[in-house]
Amino acid sequence: MLEVKNLTTHYGIIRALNRVSFSIPQTGIFSFVGANGAGKSTLMRTIMGLVTPTSGEVFFFQQNITELTPPSRVYKGISLCPEGRRIFKSVTVEENLLAGAYLCKDKSIIAGRVGNVYEFFPKLKERRKQRAGTLSGGEQQMLAIGRALMSAPKLLLLDEPSMGLAPNLVEMVFEKVKEIQESQNISVILVEQNAEMALAISNYAYVLEVGTLVLEGTGISLISSDEVRKKYLGV
Ligand code: ATP
Repeated sequence: MLEVKNLTTHYGIIRALNRVSFSIPQTGIFSFVGANGAGKSTLMRTIMGLVTPTSGEVFFFQQNITELTPPSRVYKGISLCPEGRRIFKSVTVEENLLAGAYLCKDKSIIAGRVGNVYEFFPKLKERRKQRAGTLSGGEQQMLAIGRALMSAPKLLLLDEPSMGLAPNLVEMVFEKVKEIQESQNISVILVEQNAEMALAISNYAYVLEVGTLVLEGTGISLISSDEVRKKYLGV
């Protein structure tokens, strides 16, 4: 589905990603964990086309998409739920969702997708006419994920969905991510500082350290290694 080859990304002279290569052959949850500044968000933004890599390539279903614009990537089936949620606070919940379907012109398809999001997140349905900025932090995160689902992605990129949430809400968000992945049979790339929780729901995971992939394995194998926990995960 996704193949990333030798991806290097710079911000000016700062190298944020260094020859990162990996492939996601099938559906499931794939996590990238690592400390602050490890390059996790940069990886998501490069896959989405929001940042241009210095070198390397990104393939999606065997097609080289390295030069494609972000909307073209959305059209092909990639969707990003960004760090910090970035919902449109001054408009309603439902208007936020509709914004996520901006490439689709078929009203019945859009209505079906809205209904689908409300099935995952009934709270959003209750609040559909409410201004998004007045939602709680957890509800705003649900909305951000819902909006990303509105383009019916085959690959959903989730950047730090647990950020700033109370522990019980973090658990709820991770459970929802698993439920969404399984019911839609899509691939999810999850980027998280909350390594323990992310690894627990991941089929496969990678550890990023200062822009370089240093470790990989099943979520369970990484989380159960004392050395990995101490050295890389800080748990
Ligand atoms: P966090 O968990 O804190 O969000 P991260 O693993 O997502 O961190 P990135 O945000 O990808 O890491 O940052 C990787 C490196 O690139 C860091 O050194 C960061 O300071 C730098 N960086 C990120 N965005 C920019 C930018 N717009 N301009 C300059 N440097 C940047």
